[in-house]
Amino acid sequence: MTVSAMLIIINDDAMYVSWISRHRQGFVVDGTRKSMRKHLMLHRARCSAIKPHKRARLTTAGHIKACSIDAVELVTWAREQTGGGVTACGECHPDQEGYAVDRPQTRHALTRLGTGVLSYVLELAVMYLDGEEPRFGPTVQDIGLSVGKTAGQIAPAIHRLIEDGYLECGAPAAAKAVPNTAIIYPSARSLRTIPAFGEMSPESLDAELKKLRSTQ
Ligand SMILES: [Zn+2]
Repeated sequence: MTVSAMLIIINDDAMYVSWISRHRQGFVVDGTRKSMRKHLMLHRARCSAIKPHKRARLTTAGHIKACSIDAVELVTWAREQTGGGVTACGECHPDQEGYAVDRPQTRHALTRLGTGVLSYVLELAVMYLDGEEPRFGPTVQDIGLSVGKTAGQIAPAIHRLIEDGYLECGAPAAAKAVPNTAIIYPSARSLRTIPAFGEMSPESLDAELKKLRSTQ
């Protein structure tokens, strides 16, 4: 039997301060009770953004902290609470260890065009991995066609998605431009936004990504 190590702390700052001081390798999901459906953020317990300081609202005034030494447990909990997921803190990067964080931390919000491009690439990847398509290899040109744009028109949006960690480019890294014939792959993090992949261990997900890269 496994005992859950997760602790949800509401209105008890002393307990929170004690927990993070005793679990420096742990993780904390930070949110407010009212907006929990919209916004939960995963931090490392050591992150300065959730460090107790004078007058900080930690677990009072509607604030809530979920603490665990197991990031996966917190992410699962956050998913249940939001029906969506949890954002990785951009400061302490708790997702760098391969934890299943749903929404990648980005510098840019996804535009409608960006969402369209990402959905198209993810859909193709899932169809291929499910055995519904014999090959995977959308180029910049193919992606443009899918949204009614030329390669030149779609390249900046793809470049931005690559920069933000949603997509990856099969061609050697180019400074500014993505070649029209380059094959575009989903990143591990964007593949994880699909529930079946979100549940996978980092090793299994890696194997799926390798499958995508082996088809041309
Ligand atoms: Zn943080």
